[in-house]
Order: sequence, then C-alpha cells, then structure tokens
Amino acid sequence: MQISKLVIATGNAGKLKEIRLLLTPLQIEVLSQSDFNVPEAAEPHCTFVENALAKARHASQLTGLPALADDSGICVDVLGGAPGVISAHYAGEPRSDERNNTHLLDALKNQSNRKAHYHCVMVLVRHPNDPQPVIAEGSWFGEILTAPRGDGGFGYDPLFLDTQIGKTGAELALETKNRISHRGLALAALIEKIKSL
Ligand code: IMP
Repeated sequence: MQISKLVIATGNAGKLKEIRLLLTPLQIEVLSQSDFNVPEAAEPHCTFVENALAKARHASQLTGLPALADDSGICVDVLGGAPGVISAHYAGEPRSDERNNTHLLDALKNQSNRKAHYHCVMVLVRHPNDPQPVIAEGSWFGEILTAPRGDGGFGYDPLFLDTQIGKTGAELALETKNRISHRGLALAALIEKIKSL
C-alpha cells in the first residue's frame, strides 16, 4: 500500500506523541487532525473496533486524506472489563485523568484481584468509504496499584503496573512503553499488514 501522507484521528496529545514516534521509520508525512481543526468524532459504540472505525472515517471525510485512528482503554477483570470504551470519561465530564484514576481506585477499594489490561484497536482507512479498512489490535497486561507511581505517560499509566518489568506505565521511557504497550503492538501489527498489501 502506497501512502505518503496520513492524518492521525486523535486530539489526545499523549497518544499522538506515541503514534508519531512509532511511525517515524515509515517516512510518511504524519499530520494531526487538529492541524485541520477536525472536531472530535462521536464514539457512540460499545466496542473499540466500531469506535476506531468511526473516528478514522470522520477524520478522512473532513481532511480528504487517509486516516489512522486508535480506540483504546483499560479493562479491569473484576469490573467485567470496565471502564473499557468509556475509559477517557470514566469519571464523567469534563474529562480528567486525575479524576478517572481516583474513580478507578474507589471502584477497586478492598479488592485483591487487581488484574487489568489495556486494549487498543488501530484502524486505517484510505478514504471515508474504504470497504477494506486495515485493522489491528494489541493488549498490554498488568495490575492496578493502590496508589499512583511515576509522572510520565498519560491517563491510567501511574496506576498500571507491568508486573514483569515492575514499573508502571508512567515510570517507563516512551521507547520502552511503545515496544510493549497495547498501542505499540497494535501499530506494529498494522504496519506489517500495510507492508503486505
Ligand atoms: P479513546 O480516546 O476513547 O480511545 O480513550 C482512550 C482512553 O483510555 C484514554 O483517554 C485513557 O484514559 C485510556 N488509555 C488508553 N491508552 C492508554 C495508555 O497508553 N495509557 C494510559 N491511559 C490510556
């Protein structure tokens, strides 16, 4: 697949930074939807894949460019996968990482099973009516701590412990996080698919 220019369908600065770094080797001109004043797309669906598709189509429609969207969130085992697709506004509006984290800690009060994973679905559409969107997924498994640790990353990273490494998402260098994270794995899989088209 020959793509020279791509718009990233997110207004989330943390995601944008990670995705830009991951796409560097592809030598594609990477633009953000905010470069075009594209407003945030509605995410009305209850699955990551449907929301990612909606975001990619929306950005492609409004920019006339191929668009890459990610829909992601944190899924906690004992909460039946919540907050999942509503991770960004788990504690309501206006969106706040700090309030979301407090809300999650409250939901897990006195809970010993703290297993959780991040999940990410990446979707690339060549144009808004692309009948063959390229779709890839990735997960990152760990546990929710009882108090935040670290000041890097974004979102739930200070509470999300990679139990193998022994560090939270907020304690990892961006390059390390990108190598092991749900978003890094999803994008690596997407890039492999793009190369084979
Ligand atoms: P989306 O914009 O609907 O995909 O929302 C994603 C939300 O999930 C973010 O706002 C965060 O709350 C959470 N999230 C997804 N990926 C990460 C991550 O890598 N670190 C921390 N939080 C994340």
